[in-house]
Amino acid sequence: MSLPGAYSSWGVPPWRVDFRPLPTPIPDSVDFAVVGGGFTGLAAAAWLRLLAPEASVAVFEAVRIGAGASGRTGGMALAESAAGNLPGLGDVLAGLVGILGKLHVECELALGGAWEIAHEAAPPESSGAHPAVRSPFEWKDGEPLRVVNEVPGGALDPGMLAGGLARAAQRLGAKIFEHQPVLDILWGRGAELRLHDGLVRAGRVLLANSAWALERLRVADAYTFLTLAVATTPLADSQLAAAGLAERKPFYTVDFPYLWGRVLANNALVCGAGLVNAPEGGTLAEIDVAAEEAARAFAEFRKRLHGLHPAFSALEFTHRWGGPIAFRSGWRPVFSLHPESPQGILLGAYAGHGVALSVYLGAWAAEAMLARRKLPDWGRIGLPGEFRFEPPAWMTRRAKTS
Ligand SMILES: Cc1cc2nc3c(=O)[nH]c(=O)nc-3n(C[C@H](O)[C@H](O)[C@H](O)COP(=O)(O)OP(=O)(O)OC[C@H]3O[C@@H](n4cnc5c(N)ncnc54)[C@H](O)[C@@H]3O)c2cc1C
Repeated sequence: MSLPGAYSSWGVPPWRVDFRPLPTPIPDSVDFAVVGGGFTGLAAAAWLRLLAPEASVAVFEAVRIGAGASGRTGGMALAESAAGNLPGLGDVLAGLVGILGKLHVECELALGGAWEIAHEAAPPESSGAHPAVRSPFEWKDGEPLRVVNEVPGGALDPGMLAGGLARAAQRLGAKIFEHQPVLDILWGRGAELRLHDGLVRAGRVLLANSAWALERLRVADAYTFLTLAVATTPLADSQLAAAGLAERKPFYTVDFPYLWGRVLANNALVCGAGLVNAPEGGTLAEIDVAAEEAARAFAEFRKRLHGLHPAFSALEFTHRWGGPIAFRSGWRPVFSLHPESPQGILLGAYAGHGVALSVYLGAWAAEAMLARRKLPDWGRIGLPGEFRFEPPAWMTRRAKTS
């Protein structure tokens, strides 16, 4: 299995995951093993124990809880999926609220709506056109950039979500192991997970480490990147209002060049700053956000942010970091039996749209592992080598710019 490094070269986000697992010996066997301690794996582990308290559940995390995308995310909670609504998906945000309620997880979730923004000028009054919403700002991003729609959504504190899910899983009886990378899985009637410290037999396995699993499997029509993000110095209330962000709604573009962001409680902005490819023949773990391509992307983004609105012109970055994301063609998540065994389920590749979806589908995966629910057709992947994803040109091109 392709292993993450300690991610020390990916920078530090502003969120803190306040959780350390209780020390406990690694079991010889478990009913359910979860690979990866992000939102997906933690939600699945907690939900498994909630529904089946008699079943043994263990989470193996290669580094620390939330060390992957979940502790590094922007924390915008969005409806549906990156591919929009999918057959049978259901209401992701209502599901998130229900799951967090049942697990007693507090994460400052505020669902006051999110703005879709686009590079277009406001229609002239005389045109008689009625925009879906009246934009509270018109920023300059080469072209005018303004709000074109308001959608369900909001934001949360990712550190609190990761820590809260981990605490819920542990409280309900799941065992959590940090610094325990799963080195390999031997599939048979069940599965045998190889760790540095021995072997663990498992009845069923959830691979909730999608960015790494997909990098290795090369089966899904998937492509992985490091997404860059920044947190800025805080704005004064008057600057926030002048820039049209007094309502504090998170925003993301529905066209390119891409931009997403949100306002924190202290009036700082958290924004996306572009994508970076793994080095030729290497892995995402080798990327250093302080070096070359990533450093260039941060510098370009600083210039772009300063130009968006005069209120942003003096903002500096207090945090610069990156985290892995995986895309597949059609932007559909991977939610599939493992190509080598029906005892394994692979879940992830949310295409940068995974905060709410990971928790929601993590709980669904738990129900599927308990044979109480089917996997959706839209998440299925093919057999090794069956098809490969050719990334669209903008992805590879934009990975080099912003
Ligand atoms: C910078 C950034 C900003 C984002 N912003 C948003 C946003 O605002 N809104 C939104 O909806 N989505 C956003 N996303 C996407 C969202 O954060 C992810 O989709 C979500 O966190 C994925 O959670 P996960 O649990 O599937 O994966 P991860 O959190 O990546 O968890 C996988 C875990 O598996 C572990 N692991 C890997 N290999 C192994 C192994 N062999 N053995 C054991 N453990 C292993 C890793 O260490 C990691 O902790 C963003 C992502 C990034 C990177």
